[in-house]
Amino acid sequence: MSYAYDDQNIFAKILRGEIPCNKVLETEHALAFHDIQPQAPVHVLVIPKGPYVNADHFGEAASEVEQAGFCRALAKVAREVGIAESVGGGGYRVIANSGPEGRQEVAHYHVHIAGGEKLGRMLPKREG
Ligand code: 5GP
Repeated sequence: MSYAYDDQNIFAKILRGEIPCNKVLETEHALAFHDIQPQAPVHVLVIPKGPYVNADHFGEAASEVEQAGFCRALAKVAREVGIAESVGGGGYRVIANSGPEGRQEVAHYHVHIAGGEKLGRMLPKREG
């Protein structure tokens, strides 16, 4: 297994404070901020602070503390922006695009949290 992390990616720059972001939440292990091109009324990105390329890399190499911290942050974001059912929201979707066929554009692991309205199908229906 090999993973090449490029620390010039845009989310690494956001983590270093070189590029601004509209922050939702920051913890020891994660940073959450609004997506610059929202695809839903609420569209937040959650990224781990460690240098992980994608879901595969994060799942393989991040410590259990980092992974647990990331999961906790993700759930907290959805509550803080009001879309979690536990705080009266209507629910949401979590997406992690990974690699070229997953259409990942930024090579720092991230999950999208999208909600605020009834979302369309997750994937287009396949023919046949
Ligand atoms: P991906 O396709 O890699 O899963 O998603 C990358 C996401 O990052 C896209 O939804 C895109 O709009 C968002 N994005 C790209 N550059 C920036 C940026 O500089 N700031 C913020 N907040 N989001 C960005």
